[in-house]
Amino acid sequence: MLRSQPQIIRLLSRLASNPPSSLILEGGEAEERLALSKYLLKTLNCPDAHNGPCLECALCAKIDADVFRDMFLLDPQDGLSVDHIRELRPILAQKPRHSWRMIIIAGAGDLNISCANALLKSVEEPVSRNCFVFLAAQREHLLPTLISRSFVLTLTRRTRMASDQEQEELYREFSDFVVSGRGFIHGTSKKNPLSLDQARQFLARIQVELAKAQRGEQNPFMNLAPQSWYRMNKVLHTAFYALSCRVRIDLVLQWLALTFWQIRRTN
Ligand SMILES: [Zn+2]
Repeated sequence: MLRSQPQIIRLLSRLASNPPSSLILEGGEAEERLALSKYLLKTLNCPDAHNGPCLECALCAKIDADVFRDMFLLDPQDGLSVDHIRELRPILAQKPRHSWRMIIIAGAGDLNISCANALLKSVEEPVSRNCFVFLAAQREHLLPTLISRSFVLTLTRRTRMASDQEQEELYREFSDFVVSGRGFIHGTSKKNPLSLDQARQFLARIQVELAKAQRGEQNPFMNLAPQSWYRMNKVLHTAFYALSCRVRIDLVLQWLALTFWQIRRTN
């Protein structure tokens, strides 16, 4: 996974000699962003680091296994709260056990405003040998004040991703297909491909629309038997799982569209 970002690896290795108190990693895929932040943490702490971590020592292994005492992995999806961030402050004020402590905020683009501000406050009161790393699909999802206080690294492949407009179009074609059985399958190949993050967002959006339909809102999934909604939700979970197993994204979406269309037809 790291081999796909040789430039970023070189930059991170150089940054390790004087790391910023706040770093933003944007672009690429969520897994790449997390792996790269751990790479930097290893470089900062590995006793055998030479132009990068050894990747073999006990310390490198602990970081990989998420059991390194100086690594805090926060994610809004795990129910991160302002209280949680405040509770961390006294810990962050102490010296790290090893050379450097890292606070990784995965999915930083999903932070609510209170959590984003609480984290910003911590960033604004830097403590030596603490490094905050914010991971986001794109920097525009973060507070402008945070961006201006951070060192930003952009992973490659950002330009090849589908634009917001293309994602919107893809969703429209998908929902049309569920009703009519026409269009979507060919549409998937014409546009820029969705990244893994975008594909997950696409599935999450369908999940939300399904819930809305069950509450009686008007959309392509409305007026179905409860059994059909249940089956669609199960199919969605399988699609999420397929993505996490790295099944090709266009195949997952095509299978999803066809299965939804069949469920709707036999409703
Ligand atoms: Zn090592």
